[in-house]
Amino acid sequence: MDEHEVRRILTEHRTAAHARVTAIAAELAEVTAASADSNLDDEHDPEGSTVAFERAQLAALLAQAREHLRDGEDALRRLAAGQYGRCERCGVAIGDERLAAVPLARRCIACASHPGR
Ligand SMILES: [Zn+2]
Repeated sequence: MDEHEVRRILTEHRTAAHARVTAIAAELAEVTAASADSNLDDEHDPEGSTVAFERAQLAALLAQAREHLRDGEDALRRLAAGQYGRCERCGVAIGDERLAAVPLARRCIACASHPGR
């Protein structure tokens, strides 16, 4: 993969991740505001627990989306620094095939399959 193509893919990823973070944050704010308005009893009102569940789910999605965004920004930084495509753990080239499948990969396949070591 040439650098131009890599940058395009990573930039697209970052833009999509950013849009997702914004959308989920807005949805979460809406649900939170709606539940504050309605005076629902989270513990005993069945509708209240649904709202709480929805909120927890959105919060989890938001955390995940933020992580994707961070990963995308990180990959762009590594690309700018000439470090993109190198395993952050052992330093070997991650390999085009793996990068094509997982553009945000930080580690080579060997290190990724043994995260504990
Ligand atoms: Zn490695």
